[in-house]
Amino acid sequence: MKPEATFPQLQSEFDRSESGVRYYCRHMPAVFSRARNARVWDETGRAYIDFLSACGSLNYGHNHPALKSRLLEYLSCDGVLASLDLHTSTKREFLTAFRELILAPRGLDYRIQFTGPTGTNAVEAALKLARKVTGRRTVVAFTNAFHGMTLGSMSVSGRRGEPSSGHILPDGVTRLPYEGYFGAGIAELDRYAAMVDDPTGGEEPPAAIILETVQGEGGLNVASEHWLRHVAILAEKLGALLIVDDIQAGCGRTGSFFSFERAGIAPDIVCLSKSLSGTGLPLSVLLIAPQHDKWLPGEHNGTFRGNNLAFASASAAFGFWRDKEFLSAVRKSSQYIRAWLSNTSEKFGPVTLKPKGTGFMCGLEFARADIAERVCRECQARDVLIETSGPSGEVVKVMPPLTIEPELLEEGLGRLDEAIVSVLLNSPDVGEPVAA
Ligand SMILES: *Cc1c(COP(=O)(O)O)cnc(C)c1O
Repeated sequence: MKPEATFPQLQSEFDRSESGVRYYCRHMPAVFSRARNARVWDETGRAYIDFLSACGSLNYGHNHPALKSRLLEYLSCDGVLASLDLHTSTKREFLTAFRELILAPRGLDYRIQFTGPTGTNAVEAALKLARKVTGRRTVVAFTNAFHGMTLGSMSVSGRRGEPSSGHILPDGVTRLPYEGYFGAGIAELDRYAAMVDDPTGGEEPPAAIILETVQGEGGLNVASEHWLRHVAILAEKLGALLIVDDIQAGCGRTGSFFSFERAGIAPDIVCLSKSLSGTGLPLSVLLIAPQHDKWLPGEHNGTFRGNNLAFASASAAFGFWRDKEFLSAVRKSSQYIRAWLSNTSEKFGPVTLKPKGTGFMCGLEFARADIAERVCRECQARDVLIETSGPSGEVVKVMPPLTIEPELLEEGLGRLDEAIVSVLLNSPDVGEPVAA
């Protein structure tokens, strides 16, 4: 018998068959098989605490009982699963629930476009529509932005890829500093607007300004309400559409359904995806201010725009947003996380680690990326699923489901605390200042 036949586990099916592009599994090599709310189990029965929530696509946890029973009911009645953009009763249920439970209570009015199932497809559709509506070419995007991995989305993202790795260099993108980027504020916005106004300023009027109100992958940078309102006013003044990419920060991640509610702005276009279905099923939409819905039939098409199973669970999830118990539990847990982050930062010294983010979209910034990386590995050794973000990965993201049980949240944060202690004790050189 060949040795590899005796030890088939030495080379996993994943190593043998799956493309080298795989990423998260390299840090978390367990083979997961079951999950409930913030608990995940691997094949051997080992239990983990989920502080990753599939990057914010499981805001209501894994297999939420109310959502799961809606899915099972739908399947057991032979509900239509795929429908392109044909009318289905589930799609009508989704549209009505979204309008009545989410938009109307917030005084918002949008047309809904079902795009392809990924977030990045919603971003592509938003960029196309803004160009079509305005007849302009350039788009303003911000430093440290992340908008997805297709060509248009990559060009408005901040990461400067190498052409040799297939990266398309930004074309028709004007980059501005996000609030707080090396001290940037509204002066930089105003200077840009003045350049557009000036016939010899060299800047063409933009079709759109695209931004995240909290930059998820960019390191949990939170834009102030004042700055966001200023961007909205500026977009209007320039005749550009304001696109808020709420793919990660939306669907409750920051504490309210939309991340921009705190600023009292109404973007021209909103991209939603990740937690929209509530169950991890792929579903993406654009919300379009009615006057900008200039699409001709079929102008942005896609096969998988009719994920009816996702419509069913999404419609059920919208109901959570008027459930007082749900809302107060989310508020309590996010206050608990906030307090934990500031205590931890004080305990270890604010130069060593600094709280980032808001609501359930938060974390800790370390002085260097390798320290954050080691903290994540120590967490993983303690069975906590967690990841980094930020320009070089210097921010440890704390992103449990909004529905995590308070005891499990406490337990998970306790393990994160142990992980930090273990890394800092073994790293006498960590006390360097965190970059502003
Ligand atoms: C995840 C994400 C995207 C891309 O969504 P995909 O479904 O991965 O294509 C776009 N924008 C933001 C802010 C995201 O977090």
